[in-house]
Amino acid sequence: MSLPMEVVEVIGQTLAKIVPVTIALAVVFTVLSHFWACNPGKPWWRKRELLTDICYWFFVPVFARIFRIGLLVLGASVVFNINDVDELIAFYDNGHGPLAQLPLWLQGVLFLVASDFMLYWLHRMFHGGGFWKYHAIHHSSEDLEWISAARFHPVNLFIGTIMVDVILLMAGISPNVMLWVGPFTTFHSAFVHANLNWTLGPFKYVLATPVFHRWHHTALEEGGNTNFAGTFPVWDILFGTFRMPENQLPQEYGVDDDQQVPTEIGGQLAYPFRH
Ligand SMILES: [Zn+2]
Ligand SMILES: [Zn+2]
Repeated sequence: MSLPMEVVEVIGQTLAKIVPVTIALAVVFTVLSHFWACNPGKPWWRKRELLTDICYWFFVPVFARIFRIGLLVLGASVVFNINDVDELIAFYDNGHGPLAQLPLWLQGVLFLVASDFMLYWLHRMFHGGGFWKYHAIHHSSEDLEWISAARFHPVNLFIGTIMVDVILLMAGISPNVMLWVGPFTTFHSAFVHANLNWTLGPFKYVLATPVFHRWHHTALEEGGNTNFAGTFPVWDILFGTFRMPENQLPQEYGVDDDQQVPTEIGGQLAYPFRH
């Protein structure tokens, strides 16, 4: 098969997976936010910039998958000198080296913890200096909803999720862990962006919750620049960035008006290159 045809096939396969998942998430979060909204008022389908979020929702998984495969092929060639297709498949098929010898569930846990640690520091990096203009796109949602979870600039995705995944797979962890790590991260990232007042009580220190992450999306004065962890708040506790005020819920989201982030996807993709 030619490369363009393979790309078309990857796009088709990815979209075929996203559609049922999207419908399921829409049903789940419509019901949950009806009863436990963090910021009651309007349902997710009436949020500002809904179309922008829907575009990212379908575009991001396709982009991520194509670039993940590309980086894996490039990495195997540059680092391990593997250039043959069969060798490449054998190399990644069930992982390689000592990490691949561990039970699959342990590799999955290791993957989650190690990637979350790297993502914590990358996230802090994106909140500083020259990187912020890429990450500002993610923070530009003023109505924060589960569907806002995919709003990431490609540069942010690339020097973030994609790179971290590739590093761990190149280190030897079996791609088979993705069978449950993948659905977990998809659900969990939609969950932390959902309009829910859930803190999970004492488990707020164990797993990132909607209230935890919604505080991260508030303005600096309200407590932004805290709660950088994607999945495990333990990084924020360890490094002094944890913030979940008692008996209080986050109210306002978005970036400062003077940053003038465009509302539609085309303008957002170009935004960092114009600043
Ligand atoms: Zn952030
Ligand atoms: Zn977020």
